Amino acid sequence: MTFQYWNKKMETLPRPELEAWQLEKLRETVKQALRAPFYRKRLTEAGIRGPEDFKTPGDLGRIPFTTKQDLREGFPYGFLAVPREEVVRLHASSGTTGTPTTIYFNAGDLKRWTGFVARCIYGTGCTRADVFQNMITYGLFTGGLGFHAGGEEVGMLVIPSGAGNTTRQFHLMRDFGTTVVHATPSFLLHVEAKMREEGVNREHLKLKRAFAGAEPYSEDTRRRIEDLLKIDVYNSYGLSEMNGPGVAFECQHKDGLHLWEDGYIAEIINPDTLEPVRDGERGELVLTVLCREADPILRYRTRDLTAFYTEPCPCGRTHRRLCRIKGRTDDMLIINGVNIFPSQIEEVIMAMGEVGNNYLIEIEKEGELDRLTVKTEVTPETFMDDTRPLNALKEKIRHTLQASITCNPRVELHESGSLPASEGKAVRVIDKRPRDG
Ligand code: ADP
Ligand code: ZN
Repeated sequence: MTFQYWNKKMETLPRPELEAWQLEKLRETVKQALRAPFYRKRLTEAGIRGPEDFKTPGDLGRIPFTTKQDLREGFPYGFLAVPREEVVRLHASSGTTGTPTTIYFNAGDLKRWTGFVARCIYGTGCTRADVFQNMITYGLFTGGLGFHAGGEEVGMLVIPSGAGNTTRQFHLMRDFGTTVVHATPSFLLHVEAKMREEGVNREHLKLKRAFAGAEPYSEDTRRRIEDLLKIDVYNSYGLSEMNGPGVAFECQHKDGLHLWEDGYIAEIINPDTLEPVRDGERGELVLTVLCREADPILRYRTRDLTAFYTEPCPCGRTHRRLCRIKGRTDDMLIINGVNIFPSQIEEVIMAMGEVGNNYLIEIEKEGELDRLTVKTEVTPETFMDDTRPLNALKEKIRHTLQASITCNPRVELHESGSLPASEGKAVRVIDKRPRDG
């Protein structure tokens, strides 16, 4: 396979040079951060006077971690490191786990961010011949404008379709010959189910690839989308605190996400001890942004759980790869004392061809016990009035789940398209237990 690079020099920079670049950028970022009220106080308290304190990559460890709570406390302008007049854009996180946080960009920041997104897109094999339909929420969410700008930078024809309105999405795909789409994996699955339902002929579409991200999904879900839609799906990782999309992305090799280390410093720590994990071990990703002047954020605890690959990638890029992110530290459910990640449930059900594209996890209190119910849709071709195969499927799901999560769930089957569909990040878990229980 021939790999294509947006910026071959930077993407294949030898590790020692990459690390020297990071140290230089870290010094600039610290200098900049000292201009923001939050960091002026935080860094001074930690005994950091200026960039001269950073002589080796290990000096990064002198900087205290920044948490989501810190960002909330610094709202609205506590992290701003440039005069307000220099700021040309703001974005906000989706607020999946509480109050959203705001991020600011100056003109140079937007340019650098766009460069990273373009690098991701181009690295999957896209060129200016492609037609790119950005089926994700525009507005404060970074996925819309971020991918939009990156797509234009590559020179593709960008259709700002936004999320939702599935029927209209099909029309756009057909009318303009869309070759690439970007969406959450849950929306892609929804689009696929709707396509089958509405009898849209795949042969009339020119789709080749999709970028899927903004929420966790399993390898089986990727394969399902690829098989059903007959496209290549590339995993896209980002977060608004680190600009948005463009932080880490899969290359044409499609195994692990290259984290752009000339724009970000990544560490993986044990979330309990806060010590770095051993190479290749799973832990919480901590990120420092090196490409943003207006709003520097240092050693940010993402809460996302992942690990580094220890092997270099066949594509020749020197930037390390992250494993698929299985969820956040705060996604973990404790059900009758057993720790379960929603991603473990997804892995089981999405591997079953008889199961449809949408599911929901519900937890309730029944007396003293927690009761887990997994609701899944069946495929559009399944007849709901034929109870015997349905019962067998239900039992198969229950049995497989029990073996995998050591917890006996109730299983409900629902008609295709009947569970609430999401256009953006899917809400898969409904926890009805009383808070103090
Ligand atoms: P919020 O934190 O409110 O969801 P963002 O919109 O900034 O705000 O979302 C960033 C988060 O989305 C990441 O920290 C991560 O938890 C999740 N995420 C983004 N991309 C992926 C991906 N490819 N795989 C798993 N999780 C992802
Ligand atoms: Zn690669």
